[in-house]
Parts: sequence; C-alpha cells; structure tokens
Amino acid sequence: MLPYPKKVTYLEGIASPACPVEETMNASLETEEYHIHISPEKILLEGGSKTGLSYGKTTLEQLKLLYSQGLPCMEIQDKPFYPYRSFHIDCARHFFPAEQIKKMIRMCAEFKLNHFHWHISDDQGWRVESLRFPRLHEIGSVREGDHFDKCSSEELQGGYYTRREVKEIVALCEELGIEVVPEVDMPGHVMAILAAYPQYGCENREVKVGTRSGIFQEILCAGKEETFTFIEELLDDLMELFPGRYFHIGGDEAPKSHWKACPHCRKRMEEEHLESFQQLQGYVENRISSYLISRGKIPVVWNEAVYGGNLDPAVVVQLWIDDRDGMMKAHLDKGGKAVVSNVMNSYCDYPYGSVSLRNMYELNTRPAELGERGEDSVIGTECLMWTEHVRDGARMEELCWPRFAASAQVGWCGPDRPPYEEFEQCLMKLLPLFERHGIHIMEPEGWNPDPETAAAQIAAFNASMFPEDVEASGKAAEDI
Ligand SMILES: [Zn+2]
Repeated sequence: MLPYPKKVTYLEGIASPACPVEETMNASLETEEYHIHISPEKILLEGGSKTGLSYGKTTLEQLKLLYSQGLPCMEIQDKPFYPYRSFHIDCARHFFPAEQIKKMIRMCAEFKLNHFHWHISDDQGWRVESLRFPRLHEIGSVREGDHFDKCSSEELQGGYYTRREVKEIVALCEELGIEVVPEVDMPGHVMAILAAYPQYGCENREVKVGTRSGIFQEILCAGKEETFTFIEELLDDLMELFPGRYFHIGGDEAPKSHWKACPHCRKRMEEEHLESFQQLQGYVENRISSYLISRGKIPVVWNEAVYGGNLDPAVVVQLWIDDRDGMMKAHLDKGGKAVVSNVMNSYCDYPYGSVSLRNMYELNTRPAELGERGEDSVIGTECLMWTEHVRDGARMEELCWPRFAASAQVGWCGPDRPPYEEFEQCLMKLLPLFERHGIHIMEPEGWNPDPETAAAQIAAFNASMFPEDVEASGKAAEDI
C-alpha cells in the first residue's frame, strides 16, 4: 500500500473482496486518521472525519488490487505524519484544460495528497476569470508566442479557467479531501498582471505578457497605495472562488532594479524605516499577508521573502532553495512554519536524470536551515510541476508519475519511512492504479537513470534552453 500505513497487524484468515464493508465515524480519531479491520465476515472502516473515511476507502481499494483473490485479515491503524502534503501544478507557463487538471487531482487523491498548490499567475499568463479585473483574463491570459524550450512560435497562446471550471475543480478537490491553495505570485513574476494593469508597476509603462522563460525585472510598485488596494480587491475576488485556509502569495525571484529607481518605493522605505530593498519586499509580503490573515487565511511564500528578516512569523515559508544568511532559520526560530520542497528532491519538471525517483523519496525534511525547533517547524512537503518545458498532458503525467507518489509517501510517513527499495516494490504492484486513471506513467527503467543516461538527460535539458535567457536570468538573480 502507498503511502504505507503507520501500523499494520496481520491476523488469521482470508476475507472475500466482496465481503460487506461497514463504515463508521469515530470521534476519538484525528481528522485524517482511519482504522480498517478485516475479518472473514466483514470489513470495518472507521474514520475520524469524512476525510479519514475516504482515506480508509483508498487504502481498501489498493488492498483489493493487491489481493484480488482474497484479502488477508488484518488491522490497519493509520494517520499521516505531516498535515500538509501538497502537489503543485503551474498552469501559467503553459495552459492545461480543466479535464487534465482534474485527472491529475484524482490520481493525487489515490496517494492521499491533500493540498493542491495551483500556480495561476506568472509572467507568461494569468489563468482565472476575474469579475473585478476582467482585463486579467482578457489581456493577461494571452501571449504573442512561445519561446520556451528552443521552441520559436509567434502564434497567440493562452487560455484561462472560467469561474465555473474553477468551482468544479475546487468541488472535486473538496470531495476528495484536498484543499486548493491558489498562488498569485507577487511582487515579481507579474508581467501578465502588468500587461493588463500597467499602472500598478513603478513606471506605468507598457508591459507584454512574457513569451520566454526566466527571471524578469517587472515588479509591482511597493510605494503606490493603489497597488495595495488593487491586490486586496483581487484577493477578495479570488477568495470567493477558493474557500481553503492557505493562500500562496509567491515572493520568489523579485529583482529590485525598478524599486531602486522609483520615487514612490524610496518614499515608502523612508516612511516605514526600511533599511534594504529586501526589507521593502518583507513589507509588501507582510501587508498582503495581514490582509489575508484578517480574512481567516494562512499566507504562504517562497523562501526569498524572508531575506529582509522582517517577515511576519505567521507566514508559512516554502523552502525551495538554500537559505541565505540564516534568514530562513531566523524566521523559523521566531515561530514560523515551513513547507519543505527543495528543488533537487521535489521539482518534477527536471528530467529523472536530475531528480530521480530515489531523490524524491530521499527528501530531507529536517534540513539544517530549519533551526532550533527542527521538525516542529515543518508542516509538510510538496512535489512540483513547473511547465516551461511541458506542453501536453502526457508529458506532464510521465514527469509527475511516479515521482508524486514518492513525495506522497514522504509526507505521509515522515522521516521514518520504509526503505526506498520497499517503496519501489510496492509501487510496481500498484501500476494498475495508474492504468485505471489513464495516467501515462514513466516506465520503471526510467525512474533512476544510470549516471551516463542521467548526464545525457541533463545535457539535453540544459541545451533546450536559450543561452540568452539563462544569462539574463542569472543577471536578474543577482538583484534578488
Ligand atoms: Zn515603485
């Protein structure tokens, strides 16, 4: 079974797979906890909530798949180690139809992943219909070409999810015990937003929706008061669609060159007694966060947002790159919380030669930058699908699966998970589960490429990028 249950006790006897199942709520169990008792007469399923019960059913389905001739009698007591077990899909770099997203969600639910981090805005596209700011989907969802991955197309590209489609996806997630965590990346990665509403940049100049990959200079103005009014109204609009507790506000890769040249931003720094542009970013994140917190939400940011040292400890930080100057550690020592998703153990847009299935499984959820409180600071893990290099559903699926399943097991079992070999053996037996969902999984021989194959894959991946974009991004990164 995957993820492997916390405690399994085998008993005497065999039960028919057609054996009656009795479901019951047990208030003494935790929300995500469930018990299964299989005897020859019946299968008893107990859950601490609707979610716990549905996890029990998922496990039972896997058992039926593994033991189609007869279920061994057993008792399972199970609950997750981490409460936040997330999967991420970037729908900004390339747009994917709602049906593809639903397919991925259903597959993730089979492995008890419980948060869907939905990247709906970036330089290259805004992806949700907005009632209050319609230019976002009218202008911000369409770009004049596609220059990723050595592809050079000048054709119009784009798409957005209607509010009805978003509601359907949120409802499907709710049914499966998954919370949708939308992400509007701010203050950087905002070319699509500024293409629609340039007045919220520092210079009010024309911006086009991005057609290339990388890190760009465009940024929301941190000095103009109207920027914050816009953000708050935009968040109100989105909170109508996304009822979950967590809300991701980005904060990664935000070069400060426009802020440095902007009188509004400099005035803001003076008034707020901010000593650096990183602190100005901290101010922006804190202002947006306090608005979300006042609406009952828990904000999440990427780890660059802690660089100023002034981020509110109530904001959850998603660790994806190494800490800088102990800032992440300092944030967590103040009581902050973290989601662990280091690139080399979590990013599934990279080839298996870079991030193998074993690498995914060996994610260290206790890295040094977590500080004195160690794992008490960690609420969970995330596996990610960025889509600069991914244009179709089949490619998305083979990059994500089975790597997402490894991440699911890490999040469920925590640091004391079974050895990798056991995970892989179990995965082999569960391959029909992917077939059932029509998921195009990577072939087993591709899961952990040998060094030569890995080197070739990495070289091909690097060669697929335009050198001028890599250079420009490297330059921009110096100013983050
Ligand atoms: Zn400005």
